[in-house]
Amino acid sequence: MEKVFIRTFGCQMNEYDSERISGILVKDGNYTFVNSESPADIIIVNTCSVRQHAEDRALSYIGRYVNKKKVIVVGCMAENLKSQLFIKYPKLFGIVGTYNIPYIDKIIKKGGLYVGKNKDIYRPDIIINKNITSYITIMQGCNNFCSYCVVPYVRGPERSRPVTEIEDEMKKLAENGCKEVTLLGQNVNSYYDKDNKINFPKLLKKLVKIDGIERIRFMTSHPKDLSEELIETIASEKKLCKHFHLPVQSGSDHILELMNRNYTSSLYIEKTSKIREIIKDVAITTDILVGFPCENEKDFNDTVKLVEKVRFDDAFVFKYSERKGTEAAKLRDDVKEEEKLRRLNYILEIQAKISEDINNNEVGKIVDVLCLGKSLRSSDELKTTTDKNKKVYIKAGEDKIGKILKVKIKEKRTKDAFFGEII
Ligand code: SF4
Repeated sequence: MEKVFIRTFGCQMNEYDSERISGILVKDGNYTFVNSESPADIIIVNTCSVRQHAEDRALSYIGRYVNKKKVIVVGCMAENLKSQLFIKYPKLFGIVGTYNIPYIDKIIKKGGLYVGKNKDIYRPDIIINKNITSYITIMQGCNNFCSYCVVPYVRGPERSRPVTEIEDEMKKLAENGCKEVTLLGQNVNSYYDKDNKINFPKLLKKLVKIDGIERIRFMTSHPKDLSEELIETIASEKKLCKHFHLPVQSGSDHILELMNRNYTSSLYIEKTSKIREIIKDVAITTDILVGFPCENEKDFNDTVKLVEKVRFDDAFVFKYSERKGTEAAKLRDDVKEEEKLRRLNYILEIQAKISEDINNNEVGKIVDVLCLGKSLRSSDELKTTTDKNKKVYIKAGEDKIGKILKVKIKEKRTKDAFFGEII
């Protein structure tokens, strides 16, 4: 049996794809899995292309092993760079783009280049995940073409999976002991099963009926497609977590237009106000991109004002980096690197104060938590999360792992973690 190690870079969708690869190879029966590179015969590198930095990290990782092991590059960077990877690394065994991941059991035997469109297949027989939390990809691809983003080029147009297939996968995960599922898609709000005329809120209404699964999360949402129907659905169903990750990217209408985001800052603010009006205790997090081409001081200040107005629970802030082939790459990358860094740090500083304020208000609340596993810092504690995705440590035995408990939040332990007591 050949020994395989999978190294995953990038987002949750890549983690999901790596799980699928493991499942396919376990089913094949000719491979075992190892936990590090050195004992492996084959290294599968699941890659990300969203930022230049992500590609650079994967390239340097491949460079370290390509002359010693059979290395197969899969995922977004494989789809993006294609045969250029063979030119850079002549000893590379295989290049497998996003569409071809389901065929890894054939490809791993012969190597070669597999990019471009292929039929999407999901096999229920390969679900081997036995974790408390898991992912399900409900749709692939994206039609939005935000001007800075390579995803529509590397993952193709939007394709929603049929409802029954998603239900079957969730039931299988429930049988395996899973309690919390995060539904994944580049833009889950535009999910649509056209044969059954089921949109995203209706899909959620069906999935909450599956026994054994206690919580459902989702990501990522595009603000332009966030509907009142979705907010109402989340408000009305206990199993749906009260957390929205809603990337705003910028608070400047001028920059939002250049980014091709198809909403204005006031529409974004309106939507977040609507969420808070309908769901009283809700967490909203976001992504922000600073230093986009043409972003001047006024544009940046508009983003600062939006952050102060919306008051996110947390924000993931990134510096713009040019991605070849995108519309934004045609604009001059005219914000200096040190200025991008200043803007990034400025937003992080403001956001840290807002997060601190919001988290201070969590102390004293009585919340339901899902026990995920043993805490790394203390053997008699468990790590848990609330449905707003706040981390809470509690004193409890291992028999509580996988259970939902009522807990009073006693104190903040770090800036974003709490200590609670079972009540
Ligand atoms: S919505 Fe925009 S940022 Fe998100 S994947 Fe699609 S193109 Fe990229």
